[in-house]
Amino acid sequence: MPFGPRKLTGVILACHDDKPEGNLRDALRLIDSEPVLSHDMIALARWISGYYCAPLGEVLRSMLPLASEIRSGKIYSLTDSGRDAARQLFLDASADDQAANLLRALEGRSLSAGYLKKKFPLADKILRSLEKKGFLVAEHTHESRDPLRAASQSMRIQLNGKDPEGKLPKAERELIAFLQLHPGTHNLGEVEQQVKNASTAARALARKGALTVTREETQVSSGYAKTSHQLNPAQQAALDSIRLGIESREFRTFLLHGVTGSGKTEVYLKAIDAALACGRSALLMVPEIALTPAMAGQFFSRFGNRVAILHSAFSDSERTEQWRKIRSGSAWVVVGTRSGVFAPVRDLGLIVVDEEHDQSYKQEETPRYNGRDVAIVRAQHAGACVVLGSATPSLESRYNAEKGKYTLLELSERIESRPMPRVDLIDMRQEFLETRKQATFSRAMLDQFEARLDSGEQTIVLLNRRGFSTFVACRACGERVQCINCSLTLTFHRRDRRLLCHYCNYAEKVPSLCPKCQSEHIYFLGVGSEKVEEELHNQFPTARIARLDRDTITGKRHYETILQGFRDRDFDILVGTQMIAKGHDIPNVTLVGVVSADIGLGMPDFRAAERTFQLLTQVAGRAGRGSLPGVVLVQTINPDHYAIRLAAAQDYQAFYEKELQFRRFMHYPPFTAMANILVRSEKQEDALRMSAELGQHLEPAPEKIKVMGPAEAPVPRLKAEYRYQFLIKAASRKSLNELLRRAQDFTRAQKWNATALVIDVDPFTLT
Ligand code: ADP
Ligand code: ZN
Ligand code: ZN
Repeated sequence: MPFGPRKLTGVILACHDDKPEGNLRDALRLIDSEPVLSHDMIALARWISGYYCAPLGEVLRSMLPLASEIRSGKIYSLTDSGRDAARQLFLDASADDQAANLLRALEGRSLSAGYLKKKFPLADKILRSLEKKGFLVAEHTHESRDPLRAASQSMRIQLNGKDPEGKLPKAERELIAFLQLHPGTHNLGEVEQQVKNASTAARALARKGALTVTREETQVSSGYAKTSHQLNPAQQAALDSIRLGIESREFRTFLLHGVTGSGKTEVYLKAIDAALACGRSALLMVPEIALTPAMAGQFFSRFGNRVAILHSAFSDSERTEQWRKIRSGSAWVVVGTRSGVFAPVRDLGLIVVDEEHDQSYKQEETPRYNGRDVAIVRAQHAGACVVLGSATPSLESRYNAEKGKYTLLELSERIESRPMPRVDLIDMRQEFLETRKQATFSRAMLDQFEARLDSGEQTIVLLNRRGFSTFVACRACGERVQCINCSLTLTFHRRDRRLLCHYCNYAEKVPSLCPKCQSEHIYFLGVGSEKVEEELHNQFPTARIARLDRDTITGKRHYETILQGFRDRDFDILVGTQMIAKGHDIPNVTLVGVVSADIGLGMPDFRAAERTFQLLTQVAGRAGRGSLPGVVLVQTINPDHYAIRLAAAQDYQAFYEKELQFRRFMHYPPFTAMANILVRSEKQEDALRMSAELGQHLEPAPEKIKVMGPAEAPVPRLKAEYRYQFLIKAASRKSLNELLRRAQDFTRAQKWNATALVIDVDPFTLT
């Protein structure tokens, strides 16, 4: 559909004979011959659009992440008659219309649809007519034969030691330098984000023989096949009530609250069996980081070819293939991350949301939906059951269970009555008084590390902060080095010898002089996971240590390799950020050390305590999952804080009650419906003026609605934009929604730039 000079893809929502308003244009062509979205899915899109105040088009776009990819993977080549026609045209030089040129272009080689469309503005139409005449054949490219033609995401590159001859262009030299600095194989798609023009450079270097290119392996390992277990009584009871729900064909939501190591996965698998037995399909949603090939392998070995996996690490064509498999009805079980909630499965009977409290279910761009909540609404439309599983359910979900909206199912013991790990708090203020040293590790922690190295058992060390030093400051004037785009300090990353902004990826060299006062007394403060790894190396030179955080992994498959190595006992110690806290089941881990439990507590966010509690409980749950009991050591300077104390006691119920009291008192969710309105602009005066105007427009606030703001956002400047925000708490959803619409209408009437207003309903973070 042309919009000005642009062509856009549209979605048909309804067919009718009513005369529409406004300026109309003809549609150019119909892309899909059958509907890509069912009525149910369009109804779901309308709900999301209404609830989250997001444009319907944006919602539909995120529901069809593959729509454009499905069509672009075509390669055209000439048929015999096409070749004859091209030769004819060659003789008849006067024929210089586009169709003739296109045929000539195809004479020597096959070309992709994408290339042809760039070269020939009318390619779409011409290709179709030439195809009809039998001059062309189109081939869908599931695998491009030339590995160098593949998308960057599906290529792995590695230096092979041969130095290319002659002088190289800058991009190629930079790529080589990067690969020398980071040996091993890399996903080209990810390298592209760090090295300019890496894609072209890699292809050129490969042709010169300096790089080896291999395809990303997408084979899921089914070596992981875990056998099905006989359920214990608690698991069985949970399954029985889920099965009844599925068989009743009515919408119901269950909250499966099971402590770490209680065998929730086995319940999910058997519940999926139950849905299949009723002739219905099932959807399992997992957090971003948890969907590894190993996890996928477990599903393949259980459900065979009936499984489709929607993995963001898959290449476009692989994802397209999975999508087709689902849409055609040959996949009955879908495993996916957040956007997997839109998988076009038929006759949906069950949605399982694993780790339902996880932050990765919330999309942090428009439409800002929560995949867990969308799952519930989708199930409601489909008459399906939902199982929300977690060892640390969100306050909202647990409260819904208390109110009877969800059915609570509990697994309160570990499998085979294994003990929960013992958790000891180490007061780092006391440690300092006794040792007079500001050390990363307490003496008790070091002793325990040593004992594990001696016994051959494994250790996990958590510090939920990336980088080497968290900030760089000047001793003379106190200046801390800040990002040029954000009001945030830069983190020192030693491997890259750079200061990095964790929000906008801005990077700069480490200054040798203070940028403000030119003093030489620059110093580095605050410990990140990179430094923890180094200190462990210094303390235990012979220990085999691996690190897992966003800086060490260059892709989800790499993540899996490190974890697999740890599982295979190639490493004694695994250091990492929250990534290591989730879901892994590694029996030989008997010690978990938390370097600092306090990092998340200082965040200006009403969920800070809840997040800290969840992270500590989850990471503690990694210890003692096998036959050996586990120990957890937690270093903190807030040993009396209830989130830390109750996580150590592994007392969810007490935490829930205490936190609920705080939320009730402060009018936070689940007692109010909340939204965050953000006003942003590159010019501070504009952001300030616009937010003031919006503030006036929202006054007086309707009854039972509290509008707080405008105020500077906790991060007042981010990605070069100044930010002011309003926090809104409302007694009812309906009145909240009305207020948000009022804000939206106002900004439209005032002709604000479309990106100046951000509405976040049920916000997860308030930065
Ligand atoms: P959770 O997700 O609740 O932390 P998992 O699902 O990872 O726990 O289960 C922990 C371990 O117990 C896994 O290795 C799993 O294979 C095993 N397991 C699950 N159910 C049973 C059972 N009924 N009998 C024996 N082992 C089981
Ligand atoms: Zn200075
Ligand atoms: Zn920044």
